[in-house]
Amino acid sequence: MTGFFCNFISMRYDVIIVGAGPGGLACAERTATLGLSTLVLERQSIIGKKACGGGITWNGLIKKVPDALHEKVFTKQFIHTRYQNTCVSSPTPIIATINREKLGRHMAQKALQAGAEIRLGCNVTSIENGTRLNYTDTVTKKHQQEIFTHLVGADGSSSMVRRYLDLPVLSVGIGINYQIPGNIHDMHWYLNSSLFKSGYSWIFPYNGSISIGAYVDNKKLKAGILHKNFLRWAKQQGFSLKGVQPSAGYINYDFKGYHFGNIFLIGDAAGLASGLTGEGIYSAIVSGETVAKRIHDPLYRCDELKNIIKNHRRHKRMVAFAGKSNILSTFLFELLFVALKTRLINFKAVEMSRE
Ligand SMILES: Cc1cc2nc3c(=O)[nH]c(=O)nc-3n(C[C@H](O)[C@H](O)[C@H](O)COP(=O)(O)OP(=O)(O)OC[C@H]3O[C@@H](n4cnc5c(N)ncnc54)[C@H](O)[C@@H]3O)c2cc1C
Repeated sequence: MTGFFCNFISMRYDVIIVGAGPGGLACAERTATLGLSTLVLERQSIIGKKACGGGITWNGLIKKVPDALHEKVFTKQFIHTRYQNTCVSSPTPIIATINREKLGRHMAQKALQAGAEIRLGCNVTSIENGTRLNYTDTVTKKHQQEIFTHLVGADGSSSMVRRYLDLPVLSVGIGINYQIPGNIHDMHWYLNSSLFKSGYSWIFPYNGSISIGAYVDNKKLKAGILHKNFLRWAKQQGFSLKGVQPSAGYINYDFKGYHFGNIFLIGDAAGLASGLTGEGIYSAIVSGETVAKRIHDPLYRCDELKNIIKNHRRHKRMVAFAGKSNILSTFLFELLFVALKTRLINFKAVEMSRE
């Protein structure tokens, strides 16, 4: 994929998408398929480089991703709270892991095949009059302007398109990930409120490596303390992190709408990730596809997105409840644990794709 080139005459596109994460690429593939001229601008030179645990839920997403991209698929989940340990199993897969760079390459290929244009190394710096945007080529430092009929902000949790719309981000989670070499079989979740408040830590196996990380609401624990607590937990689990670089990022769950005249927000830019679990790839892809259909057909009902918004609000209420005190988060986790163990609920109950 070359994708990148810089012309010096502004062009008009039906749709310009800022950001080539899963949301932006899903949107681009769909708008191009629907016959709309589509340009994606991505500031990084590589698609898919992103701090992420790479966990995707079976019902939500994994069915949309070809088998070749599955790292590992799990029919069992090991859950550990402060007081209990259990294994939840299902006859069908519950979760799989994917490598974000492989997913990015796959999605970019599909968007290009559909006719979208993708330019890498293009940092969008400003938007003018809701009709044109300026960007800088990060290698040559040259500036360029393009004109759009519709603009899609798919530029993640620190979205500049969202800032242009004057929508502050007040509710964010923070995630930290270490990708370490190794081979293990099982997927583990640790709901330990004394270390991670209403958040959790994870062990997600890949082929030949393991993602270990933690997620927490930024209001409850600042990044430095999260990292310190995470290192304590990793040591308890017997992981050596020597020489491994961590990656970290914010996860925006402050949803304030997705449609603002001719400008749309999707994925983390819209604040559509789960505040409870940090799950955001599914919301990004579904919101990208839905917004594409909505741009093509102003009467499109966007029902898939409405379902995500409903689940998102439910998760946000749970975060607000659990975040009130350590006692409440411990109570919620132990309750959730019993409900999963007794099969009163299954894993789907906490997925963003829940119907
Ligand atoms: C540590 C961690 C672990 C996570 N684990 C999981 C998990 O296991 N499962 C899950 O479902 N979710 C997980 N998430 C959340 C998930 O990564 C995000 O919700 C998802 O990537 C959102 O997709 P997106 O397309 O909206 O945005 P992003 O993937 O963030 O993509 C945005 C893109 O926009 C580009 N961009 C930004 N600004 C500009 C600009 N000005 N000009 C041009 N381009 C720009 C960026 O370079 C980036 O490529 C995790 C997040 C973190 C931080």
